[in-house]
Amino acid sequence: NKQVVLKNYVVGFPKESDMDIVEGTITLKIPEGSSDVLLKNLYLSCDPYMRFLMAKNTNVGFGNYTLNSPLAGNGVSQVVESGHPDYKEGDLVWGFTNWEEYSLLSSAQIRFKIEHTDVPLSYYTGILGMPGMTAYAGFFELGSPIKGEKVFVSAASGAVGQLVGQFAKLNGCYVVGSAGSKEKVDLLKNKLGFDEAFNYKEEPDLNAALKRYFPEGIDIYFENVGGKTLDAVLPNMRLHGRIPVCGMISQYNLTQPEGVTNLAHLIFKRIKMEGFIVTDFYHLYPKFLEFVVPLIREGKVVYVEDIVEGLENGPAAMVGLFTGRNVGKQVISVVCE
Ligand code: NDP
Repeated sequence: NKQVVLKNYVVGFPKESDMDIVEGTITLKIPEGSSDVLLKNLYLSCDPYMRFLMAKNTNVGFGNYTLNSPLAGNGVSQVVESGHPDYKEGDLVWGFTNWEEYSLLSSAQIRFKIEHTDVPLSYYTGILGMPGMTAYAGFFELGSPIKGEKVFVSAASGAVGQLVGQFAKLNGCYVVGSAGSKEKVDLLKNKLGFDEAFNYKEEPDLNAALKRYFPEGIDIYFENVGGKTLDAVLPNMRLHGRIPVCGMISQYNLTQPEGVTNLAHLIFKRIKMEGFIVTDFYHLYPKFLEFVVPLIREGKVVYVEDIVEGLENGPAAMVGLFTGRNVGKQVISVVCE
């Protein structure tokens, strides 16, 4: 049972060498009388929040991984054997699982049974999974978009960002995204339907760039990166603007977070800036599926994935989230031996 384990707690930027590939042992049989479920993992999701679990002291209220034990996160799995009446052999599920080929889990850890299988199963780590729900809840519930409003999305080509942009377009908004390479900017404009996009790494003055794309200001800023981007956005917000704070990836690896100097604009512009955690919105998942599955089937929403093959490529994929290596949703396809 091949596993990706955490070798040492991460300080600063995560490195591939913080993780290790090991051969673990697992009994491919459920103990008599147990209600556990044995899963074969098919796809594993690389998500930025996992960086918090890789640190010794997270001080954000998350727990952390145990050293020399597998990483864990969202994944798509198939039931091999079940001691629980709700699951049977062959069922496809998504939820929390371990970074290994097979996992023996408590049925309570499984989040959702997969009903729609006419879409790629990997989508349940992305558009039909946690990042999809994040984009949906953050944009619609917190962003309260109105047709015609101007929306800015950072980390726009990623798992969450690419969906926020497409949801905003479907809602009749004007959308601009920022991303870290020309390839990503082209993707945003040519495939994902953003009105405009720019490479933030090539903008010496982010404030000037935002003024160029939003001469009348921003109504909704979907915050994924924090730091300098947030500081440049604040003076460009419009009156009564909204900032759903989804993530601040530029700060996760810094031992000394950057200061934000323009917060007073929250007052003058009467801006509503609100953080959220997607799991608080999982009750909306059935409603979300009703909304998004038809859009996928009709080709009205597309989803870009970056799938690496094999657990041995997991550490590089994970680390790559923090250098922008991933183009679209980063997924690991587990090849079971
Ligand atoms: P992505 O697929 O967007 O991958 C991360 C991307 O972040 C990279 O590809 C890179 O893109 C960008 N990035 C990395 N470092 C920096 C940096 N220093 N400055 C600016 N951009 C950077 O990830 P997700 O879509 O999964 O996550 C996006 C954000 O949403 C994260 O902050 C994450 O923590 C948050 N999140 C929050 C949730 C919640 O419940 N609140 C749930 C899910 C995600 P580029 O090349 O464009 O720089």
